[in-house]
Amino acid sequence: MNYICLTCSESENIPLNVVRDFDRMDQGDRAVPPQFTCESCGGAMYPEYYKGIHGYEYRVSDRLENKEVEGNSK
Ligand SMILES: [Zn+2]
Repeated sequence: MNYICLTCSESENIPLNVVRDFDRMDQGDRAVPPQFTCESCGGAMYPEYYKGIHGYEYRVSDRLENKEVEGNSK
């Protein structure tokens, strides 16, 4: 599945079973998907689309919109 870097927009294909393993081990905030680090810039990567094992859906478009809103409010 496709992960997109929020900083440089680099994409990386991460096997779904790897993401699911991370998701299963993650006992923290379920609103946050399994996170990976961009190999190009060290920034945070976000799934293009991922439905987690707890039923949450994550989209990079949501994250990018939120980022924009945060920026505008300051
Ligand atoms: Zn990057």
